[in-house]
Amino acid sequence: MRKICAVLFVTAIIFVAIIFMLPEPEGFPILEYHQVTDEQLDPVYEVYNVPPKEFSAQLDFLQSEGYTTITLQDFMRAVHGKATLPEKPIVLTFDDGYADNYTTMLPILEAHKMTAVVYVITNEVGKKNYMSLDQLKDMQQRGIEIGSHTSDHLALTSLDAETQFGQIHYSKRFLEWSGLSTIYSLSYPNGAFNDEIIEILKREQYLTAVTGDAGLNTLETNPYKLYRVHIRKPRFGLTEFKFRLFKAKFFAKLRNLF
Ligand SMILES: [Zn+2]
Repeated sequence: MRKICAVLFVTAIIFVAIIFMLPEPEGFPILEYHQVTDEQLDPVYEVYNVPPKEFSAQLDFLQSEGYTTITLQDFMRAVHGKATLPEKPIVLTFDDGYADNYTTMLPILEAHKMTAVVYVITNEVGKKNYMSLDQLKDMQQRGIEIGSHTSDHLALTSLDAETQFGQIHYSKRFLEWSGLSTIYSLSYPNGAFNDEIIEILKREQYLTAVTGDAGLNTLETNPYKLYRVHIRKPRFGLTEFKFRLFKAKFFAKLRNLF
């Protein structure tokens, strides 16, 4: 048993060492945030709450590293050759549509002259702790891309085809009929998707969708399977944030291997 453990351990070390030695992978990261708040009301979701000070420090760091934030519409314009990407692009995404995205996150973002993509659970719009329609419209006018996180945040793969369609179709229509301009992007609840769901997205004229799988994205990445790296409430400050960026690179190298 010990021998097997030793062999496995050495194999793992060699494997990780090989990945380290591989050339730098191409592509840009998409970061997945939720709330930007100091509140710690719900212990289950608290891990998703990035404190405003930490968030601001993360944006300072990205700027000092030469990153330029883009939206996924910018990305698709580049895919179709209608624009070029900046030298070091990055996408900041925010899931669920929490009120603090408007009251706390947006001012910090604008102070850094950055942009983002915000994914809304449409049946939560206007409810306690979530953004209102007016806030979403204002955000969109200020250059933030608004996307759908479906109507009810159910894992799409667990639903029948008709319900999948309803969750994808009505969330987009609700936002558009409420006066927002066209919704082009979707974030899969719980990161759950399959080929049938992607077909529905194409039919419903979504152009992009983000997953919960770590990696980097290039103009060749399937736009309905965009990789994201999750930014949780950091326990180790900026060091942990740098580690998350590194994680995206590590998985990109891993994917290049296979
Ligand atoms: Zn979510």
